[in-house]
Amino acid sequence: MNTCIFCDIVAKKIPSDIVFEDDVVLAFLDIHPTNPGHTLVVPKQHVATMAEASSELASALAARLPRLTRAVQAASKADGYNVNNNNGTAAGQVVSHLHLHIIPRFSNDGYQAWGHRSYADGEAAQVAAAIREALA
Ligand code: AMP
Ligand code: ZN
Repeated sequence: MNTCIFCDIVAKKIPSDIVFEDDVVLAFLDIHPTNPGHTLVVPKQHVATMAEASSELASALAARLPRLTRAVQAASKADGYNVNNNNGTAAGQVVSHLHLHIIPRFSNDGYQAWGHRSYADGEAAQVAAAIREALA
């Protein structure tokens, strides 16, 4: 039988510090916060990654973000916040149930953003063309 820790949290089979719940999503504190107030927003329906979500589910998830991010930032008195979504092991996804991280950020909290490389001549055009082709 497949087990999913976030499905178990949604089903209240294991405890979590829930901050918001409606018919589509559950939001609860990350058990190992980057900063206090670090919140996970999960669809109640199990899908593993963003790519597996329907447009409707992704829209519903995104639609909850303005209210949730305002609340997380206000309650944690943060200077800013990251909304992050890891997909796949290579991207740091550990729990294979789609989730968004809302991470309160403070001006001097020491966490680094992503690295930034440069494209070689012509590389950006090739990469953009490949993505357009995948969308076609
Ligand atoms: P990710 O690396 O994007 O898959 O993030 C998974 C997150 O889930 C991590 O930040 C964990 O700290 C968090 N997590 C794992 N188990 C629990 C749990 N039982 N309750 C709350 N958060 C959890
Ligand atoms: Zn699940």
